[in-house]
Parts: sequence; structure tokens; C-alpha cells
Amino acid sequence: MQDGQATGLVPRSIEPEARVGPCAARNKLLRCIPKTELTVLQSIATDVEIKPRQVLHHWRLPMEYVYFLGSGLVSVSAKVEAGRFVEAWLVGSEGMIGAPCVLAPEDPMPPHRRVVQVGGTALRIPTPAFLAALDDLGALRGVILAYINLVLFQTSQVGACNSLHSVKQRLARWLLVAANAMESGELPITHAVLAQLLGIRRASVSECLEAFEQAGIIRNTRAAITLVDRAQLEHSACSCSGLIQREYDRQIGRRLRA
Ligand SMILES: [Zn+2]
Repeated sequence: MQDGQATGLVPRSIEPEARVGPCAARNKLLRCIPKTELTVLQSIATDVEIKPRQVLHHWRLPMEYVYFLGSGLVSVSAKVEAGRFVEAWLVGSEGMIGAPCVLAPEDPMPPHRRVVQVGGTALRIPTPAFLAALDDLGALRGVILAYINLVLFQTSQVGACNSLHSVKQRLARWLLVAANAMESGELPITHAVLAQLLGIRRASVSECLEAFEQAGIIRNTRAAITLVDRAQLEHSACSCSGLIQREYDRQIGRRLRA
């Protein structure tokens, strides 16, 4: 079904054995809900490709769609001055894009920008149809509210981390959180983008990454960073990435379908 055909109406007949699309099969939030609810969601959704540097939501413009990522990585950034944004949190296949629409549907123009950093695939749903369907999808609503709670925790933890921990620790934290969000140790991201996301100098990013590489923790090329020794990277990071991951496991991990 094309997006334009989605009217917000929820189908009355549900096929419990309907096919689960590739994005829905990989997204952790969608893996927490019953297949009956997933079928309803898929009837109003489209599988789309998301490309690096694609802006999914512009700052203070309506959120036309919500997205559940099957793969890739999206940064949600706060505006700090005209034309300059710094990452507030990131989203991969462990989360969703469009949580503010659930919390405040009467104000669909949240003050953040959402940009694809690593390309991939996503389940895209028109926001009005999604909100209309959500009224009948109790399990999905519960999972999304738990996820929003996690985003609040993650942003407060990152705020504290940015105030107290070193650039090297913060960089290690970012790599670990991103690897968890992408469920991959291969992060196709450049030093320049990392510097912009973290709000630190590019030279500082390169210096820290070189130190990690010399210690055998990562493999570092112009276009990608590969985690080689995750345990050592965790040792180099502050406790923040571990706290974020444990909270995710506590609230979402336990709900995952086998
Ligand atoms: Zn920290």
C-alpha cells in the first residue's frame, strides 16, 4: 500500500500469520509486540530506504512520518545556534523516530532535527494513520512509552556525561551506544561527522581514535570505524554507556520475542 492510501482506518479482519516484513523483523520495539498488532501496523506502513545525510525531520516542521528502523543510524540533534546542531540522542533498530508525536500529538513540530548518519532501511508510517491506529494497539503503545522513558534517561545521562567525563570517555561511550543501536561493530562514520555530533574539535576526535587504534581497540579508516576489542573499549569508556544499555535491557530487552 502506498502512503497516500493510508487513511488511519484500522483493518477489521486480522491475519495472525501475515508476513512480517524485513524492517519489522529487525526492529527491537516491533519485536516486542504481538503479530496481530504488527499486522495492523504493516497495513499502513511502507518499507523505505534511508540514505546518509537524509533529513527525516526538519527542526520545528511537522513530523509527517514516524519511522521504525530495520538498519542504519539516525541522530536527533538539538539546535545550539543558527545553523549549528549537536546530537541529543541517536536511534537505530532499537528504537523509533517520532516519539514526540505520541506524547504531544497536538504539537507535531518538535524542536529537534533528525538526520540519517548511516543508511539503512525503515518502516515508514504517515503520522496521522499511526496515531489513529495506536489507539487500538495497546502493546505497541506500552512499548513506545517505555522507549520514550529510555530516551529521557539516555539524554539526561549523556548531559551528565558531557559535563563530567573526558573527550576520550565520551567518544568511547558514543561508539558503544551506536554499536548497540545498530547491532553492529562496523560504524561507517567519519571523524568530521563524529566531531559535529559530539560538539568537539575534529582534531580531538582523530587524536582519540588514533590512540584507540594503537591500543588495538578499533580499526580506523577514512570512512569507517570498526570495533575490534569491545571489552577494551568498554574499559576506556566511562560508566555511562553501560548504564544506558542496562536500562534498555531492563525495560525493552525482557519484552523481546524469542
Ligand atoms: Zn560518561
